Amino acid sequence: MDQIFNFSAGPAVLPKEVLQQARDEMLDWHGSGMSVMEMSHRGKEFMSIAEKAESDFRELVGIPKNYKVLFLQGGASSQFSMVPMNLLRGKTKADYINTGQWSTKAIEEASRYCTINVAASSTNTNFTSVPTQDNWRLDSNAAYIHYTSNETIGGVEFHWIPEIDLNNTIPLVVDMSSDILSRPLDITRFGLIYAGAQKNLGPAGLTLVVVREDLLGKPLPGTPTLYDYQIHAQNDSMYNTPPTYAMYITGLVFAWLKNKGGLVTMEKINIAKANLLYGLLDNTDFYHCPVAKADRSRMNIPFTLRNPALDEEFLMQASNNGLIQLKGHRSVGGMRASMYNAMPIEGVAKLVAFMKEFACQHA
Ligand code: PMP
Repeated sequence: MDQIFNFSAGPAVLPKEVLQQARDEMLDWHGSGMSVMEMSHRGKEFMSIAEKAESDFRELVGIPKNYKVLFLQGGASSQFSMVPMNLLRGKTKADYINTGQWSTKAIEEASRYCTINVAASSTNTNFTSVPTQDNWRLDSNAAYIHYTSNETIGGVEFHWIPEIDLNNTIPLVVDMSSDILSRPLDITRFGLIYAGAQKNLGPAGLTLVVVREDLLGKPLPGTPTLYDYQIHAQNDSMYNTPPTYAMYITGLVFAWLKNKGGLVTMEKINIAKANLLYGLLDNTDFYHCPVAKADRSRMNIPFTLRNPALDEEFLMQASNNGLIQLKGHRSVGGMRASMYNAMPIEGVAKLVAFMKEFACQHA
């Protein structure tokens, strides 16, 4: 069988070189006689893995000293509650921008802890666009402003960072689960960013948080210890056992990204990949992408076939051609091609060639 290209939305494709290195190091990491899975998280071997992962990440993004990088568990979903628990800091309101299913979930969870002002929403376009900032109705008493930079299900992505408060008094918080490290990132524009690892970073089980130090230390009364960012920050993410193997693989992904030329190079490749697929979608009426052109995701591209009766046939033939996990999210149907950093451009080119051929066959 030819190479298989995996378009899963997450857990998703990882760089082949990373998996090969993990395979080579599986039984004996650097002559230690142990697999990384078997190491104490407090031993010198794992400590060196964790330190390198953090320093490579800091270097890749360019993270200043006044930001903490936390390696947590619980998925991005746990951040839906950790964010209000830690960032309300005595206030009772928060602003949220609603651009789809993930923002909606974040809003539902945060509303258990505070009053939510949905400052802008794209429900009017059925979540196929991002509300432009002139339509946002922010609350000056909000403790923070939360948005989702890439809606993994809807395929809607912010290609700009909101300009909200140049003095940084109201922190901007972003769920970057599905587009983190797909392009350069100016962390100083944010109070906090978070991401589940299993899309663009590494395996499921690790949740990455980057938070400005001055926001720490004022959790809601009753916040569970493990939900307090400060506890994790003070203990270098080792208050309890962190997800060691997931951190190791993610560290290999950071090293891979550095080796590939970093985030500027990644962005160029991601733009080229996205252009290939959108180029086809816009030049046929056999396929359709519902998302507004300016707000289309480079990471997750949802599309439908004009004739949904062909969906099963499309998926079957794609799979026979080594193009897998293209089925759309169960809530929206159709197809979705997720093209994270680890998806090579050859995979997208092969998908586009297959889609052209399929359209010709069924015209
Ligand atoms: N936010 C976004 C944008 C996501 O794509 C996902 C997962 N698909 C989540 C949050 C939830 O992540 P987790 O399953 O890690 O809790």
